[in-house]
Amino acid sequence: MPPEGQEKEIVYEGTPVSPGISFAPLHVVARGFASPEVYNIPEAMVPREQQRFREALELTKDQLDSLRTQIEQISGEEEGRIFEAHLLVLEDQTVLDRVFAAITERRQNAEYCFYAVVQTFLEAMRRIPDPYLRDRTADIEDVCKRVLRNFSPEEDEEEEPDHQHILVAYDLSPSDTAAIDRNRVLGFVTEQGSNTSHTAILARSLGIPAVVGMRNAIFNLRTLTPAIIDGYEGRLIVYPSESTSRHYRKLLNEKAQMRLALDEIRDTETVTTDGRRLTLSANIEFEHELEVVKSSGAEGIGLFRTEFFLLEREEAPGEEEQAALYKRVAESVAPHEVIFRTLDAGGDKVPGEPLSEPEPNPFLGWRGIRFSLARRDLFKEQLRAILRAGASGRVGLMFPLVSGVTEVREAKKLVAECIEELEQRGEEYSADVEVGVMIEVPSAAMVAADIAAEVDFLSIGTNDLIQYTVAVDRINPRVASLYKSTHPGVVRLIKATVDGASKHGIWTGVCGEMAGDLELLPLLVGLGIDELSVGTHLVPAVKRAVRSLNYADCASLATKALACGESRVILEMCRTAAEAAYPDLLKQTRRST
Ligand code: PEP
Ligand code: MG
Repeated sequence: MPPEGQEKEIVYEGTPVSPGISFAPLHVVARGFASPEVYNIPEAMVPREQQRFREALELTKDQLDSLRTQIEQISGEEEGRIFEAHLLVLEDQTVLDRVFAAITERRQNAEYCFYAVVQTFLEAMRRIPDPYLRDRTADIEDVCKRVLRNFSPEEDEEEEPDHQHILVAYDLSPSDTAAIDRNRVLGFVTEQGSNTSHTAILARSLGIPAVVGMRNAIFNLRTLTPAIIDGYEGRLIVYPSESTSRHYRKLLNEKAQMRLALDEIRDTETVTTDGRRLTLSANIEFEHELEVVKSSGAEGIGLFRTEFFLLEREEAPGEEEQAALYKRVAESVAPHEVIFRTLDAGGDKVPGEPLSEPEPNPFLGWRGIRFSLARRDLFKEQLRAILRAGASGRVGLMFPLVSGVTEVREAKKLVAECIEELEQRGEEYSADVEVGVMIEVPSAAMVAADIAAEVDFLSIGTNDLIQYTVAVDRINPRVASLYKSTHPGVVRLIKATVDGASKHGIWTGVCGEMAGDLELLPLLVGLGIDELSVGTHLVPAVKRAVRSLNYADCASLATKALACGESRVILEMCRTAAEAAYPDLLKQTRRST
């Protein structure tokens, strides 16, 4: 039982990645097996808890030994060896020492300390790009479950709750996140992750408040604790006091009012006070978001991340299934355009076959257009499906992770081949699709004019462009503070892209998360961006913000930013401009205090 007095309000901080506020009890899980109950123990009980741990270990060893003997008798010595790995885990001195230390220092029950320590090891192992070691995590999970059962053999394992809850996990993969049941999971908190990880992007698409990078969440939080998640500020408040609850209820009310106010401008143009018109479109990953795209006031879809559809399945969907989906999307957004981004597997979007071999540096590896140009069979299926959807609405396509003009020419050649094939088949299609390139690699930004000569538009993927420019892994919380959208190098590469595009009279968009950052909008508008593509939930606020900006002022801000050498100073300039133009909006959309 939790000791008396545990009900005091505690606020935990992390990185806010998906806005929203929810009230619900926590459900703490870790991949592989459920978290045991956690409770504090008085100092005098430390030796007893350590003894309970020893006993559970001994019992587990005895069980494994007798299992090994039985298997050896039935199947021979070789088969019996499979339990050696399990036994080794129970004798690993580093693990044992850490568990004993955790019981002493944290004064928490032994099963929970054991579970949390092992969880940390497991997560570290899952990240090792060695398939043998990764496979061994299954053995370790297995033996851990057994030890946990042996603390209290009579109890059953915890089940997934069917009530509404806030999920707490060490990490969630993009596919774990995509599989979340939005009716039951009202928010999630993880120890890993960052704002531009795909897990965060998906949380925003699903409209679930999320906080990541919350250190020691698994250790500190326990299932069924009442809590409030604040996805604006990156907070989790457990045992919220009456006044905190009142504050958040009031805030929810205000947000609802704000939504009503934003609804009023839904059908207006995205135009600055001095008449510069931008296109504002939406980023989506799932078909179920189409309704929200319409109601958000977006002018079409500027980025459809097709990999979530393509990689979700055991087997890649063929041309027919893709063509049917793309057609439904094109019809739904008509008369606006939808831009399909061709498969961008790799990085943190880890597919099964055919990219099953782990790579030492996945973000620098076989991803985006590199993968598509190597797997032309899959690439051409997708291209034909997109061209066929072009017969049902306005369709564009763009290639991800392009590093130079050669890749663009090769990809365009394949588009031309696909057009010919569809023509020969007598299939309905449109050759009149806009073809664009994502600018996500610094080398591509530097040769933007050469690329622009080949295509109809450039769309800047700032999530990757920033990571590759400043050499900061976008999902690693340790280096997250170095991931700076206003780094002068990034600002100048955006400018180089816009200049390259205008030299050839084509438009430039931004579809990375930077496009939806209200503090940075004055800079993007001033740099001459023509299109902004943002998560659907951000469309109304971005529209309102652009409608409050003066383009001439933004252009002079951009000139100053381009001459500035420090990201902090550029960020300050942007904040000042945003504060001056839409202070209420900034307060409402970002802050909960
Ligand atoms: C980007 O890199 O900014 C982008 C939009 O693509 P993704 O986030 O899917 O890598
Ligand atoms: Mg990208």
